[in-house]
Amino acid sequence: MKKIAILGAGYGGVAAAKTLHKIFKKDKDVEITLFDRNPFHTLMTELHEVAGGRAEPESVQVSLEKIFGGTRVQVRIETIASIRFTDKVLVGKEGEYGYDYLVLGPGAEPEYFGITGAKEHSFSLWSYDDAVLLRRHIEDQFLKASREPNDALRRRNLTFVVAGAGFTGMEMLGELLEWKKTLCVRYGIDEAEVSIVLVEAMTEILPVLPKKLRQNTMKFLAKKGAVVRLDTPITEVRPEGITVKGGGVIATDTLIWTCGVRGCAFAGALDFTGGKEHGRSSLTEEETNLKFNILKRSRLRSNDFMQSVDFDNVYIVGDVAWHVEKNRTLPQVVETALQTAECAAHNIAADIKGETKKAFRSNYHGFLVSVGSKFAVANVMGLVLTGFTAMAMKHLVNFHYLWSVAGVNACWEYAQHHFFQVKAGRSQIGNQAANKTPTYWLLPIRVGLGAIWVVEVLEKVFKGWLDPSKGPVSAWMFSPGVHQAGWAVDAATAATTAAPAAGAAGAAAAGASDATAAATAAAATGAAAGAGQAIDLLKSMGNPILPPDFFLVQWMRWFMDTFISQVNYVVLQYGVVTMEGAIALALLGGTFTWIAGVASLVLCLNFTLAGYFTWNTAWMILASVTVLGGAGRVLGLDAWIMPWLHRWWNGTALAKKTYWYVGEPRRK
Ligand code: NAD
Repeated sequence: MKKIAILGAGYGGVAAAKTLHKIFKKDKDVEITLFDRNPFHTLMTELHEVAGGRAEPESVQVSLEKIFGGTRVQVRIETIASIRFTDKVLVGKEGEYGYDYLVLGPGAEPEYFGITGAKEHSFSLWSYDDAVLLRRHIEDQFLKASREPNDALRRRNLTFVVAGAGFTGMEMLGELLEWKKTLCVRYGIDEAEVSIVLVEAMTEILPVLPKKLRQNTMKFLAKKGAVVRLDTPITEVRPEGITVKGGGVIATDTLIWTCGVRGCAFAGALDFTGGKEHGRSSLTEEETNLKFNILKRSRLRSNDFMQSVDFDNVYIVGDVAWHVEKNRTLPQVVETALQTAECAAHNIAADIKGETKKAFRSNYHGFLVSVGSKFAVANVMGLVLTGFTAMAMKHLVNFHYLWSVAGVNACWEYAQHHFFQVKAGRSQIGNQAANKTPTYWLLPIRVGLGAIWVVEVLEKVFKGWLDPSKGPVSAWMFSPGVHQAGWAVDAATAATTAAPAAGAAGAAAAGASDATAAATAAAATGAAAGAGQAIDLLKSMGNPILPPDFFLVQWMRWFMDTFISQVNYVVLQYGVVTMEGAIALALLGGTFTWIAGVASLVLCLNFTLAGYFTWNTAWMILASVTVLGGAGRVLGLDAWIMPWLHRWWNGTALAKKTYWYVGEPRRK
């Protein structure tokens, strides 16, 4: 039995676990365990949305149970305090865990560069907890300000400083600029009193992006009223404000520190040789001169196979990996985490199977940075995009990632958080997809649709559908002359039992002639034009939605004549009436409403294709779609049935394997 332990359920850890599961799915001799202190994977790239009040905290959590419930990966919620590498043991709070191979992906934490007070008096944005804390603090500041009579203190409450114009800082800044509008309304504060300041040590924002994108972003920030202070390194931080180069002071209660990251303290304290290869007393010149003095930033040196240079059976992935490729240290971005993890997992499998390991080759696609919910800039695969298209690209990239993590469920949740459940129009398409309709508004349409199906059933029964002695009264469905289960549909029968469509058309024609008479009178009083239009409309309402010579109607007739006419007449008649009755009862009782809605839709489309439905009945098609949106949950049995069904389904192996969960998986 080979034991593979993965430490950290970040982008790297999760990717490594998923890759290893794929490779060893059928191999009972390999045990894969993922350790993390949190029961969820955090979508770090979206933390600013939580901190900035755009998305709910749960939007950045994907439960590990959901991701790994249907896999061979065992998840252990545990805080690992240290590692005894020579014994191959992880030392946790609750116990010790042996391993043969270890994938280390404990992640990064903010870098404060030794600036006095920076760590103590600032907020960071590098974990779920950070985001939630910052979100509460920002809202509290508006509440405090709304109660503060002193102007200077009020200004301090309402000054928000973002330090660092890298990706994290810009994304947070964008959210603040957006959220302040809602908060000002909620707390009765004049927007002009709120200062949102970006302080950057260098002379440019977002230095890794092309000049054009930097300029576009600067224009956007100016339009939104951000104060941008470039070439202004922060030199000291105190509880009541920050000092910048040259001695200037900005009074604030809120400094958001996004000035870069380093490997986490846990990684820094590990019993490694600090990245030095075993047996070597000093670093090479190249290593010593590496940008940012990597060694002091707690990153762990790996070789080309992502193996630690200290221990062969330990692999390093993600932000904590210190790997030099073409004289550049790998950047601490999601793509690095995913690619190092894939390489590490592959090489562990190769080691176990005695195959050849592969060397790491990065393949970066570019960068995407959002500034609020509607503006983004992107430099991806040679495409330089700004605004709507860049934002659309960011959503696509997120969907792509989430699909790989937890399939359709994770994508659905993302769509919910970013399009359907948005507040204050904070989505790329504003409120256009925001689902605000309370279920009780759907009640009349559900009951109305149910009632009309009752009418349909009664009509059919009274016409003699269920009485074979009445002859083939449903002949409208078939071409005249079609023999169906022994009934010859002759021309006369076809004529007398002809489609209600014909009846409806006749009625419409009658109505139309009445309308024509009315129109004539109207013409006499000089309103001929308007009345003429009304007549056309009335006439058209009685017309079949699809005319008899329309190709789909022709096709449907062929289908009915060829296949459905083979079905026994009595079975068919009873079948249709029973189905309509079941739909009616389900809709009236709000029971399995979704299924009833789909069945209603199928029947409606069927009747439309048969050339039977007129524009007067088209509302039934629309109503069938409308009731799909949870219409059975108000004054209906679905209020109990659906939660019960979801609970049952979420515990099945199929839901676990396919990620077709409804919400969260069922734990035992
Ligand atoms: P960063 O290193 O990208 O940017 C930090 C910025 O802070 C720099 O511009 C730096 O000049 C500035 N700074 C440093 N010290 C300062 C001081 N004393 N006063 C004022 N400014 C100072 O850091 P980040 O934005 O926290 O990102 C960390 C990592 O995460 C990066 O590798 C980044 O690429 C990655 N990330 C990527 C995305 C994305 O792809 N959308 C989003 C967030 C983070």
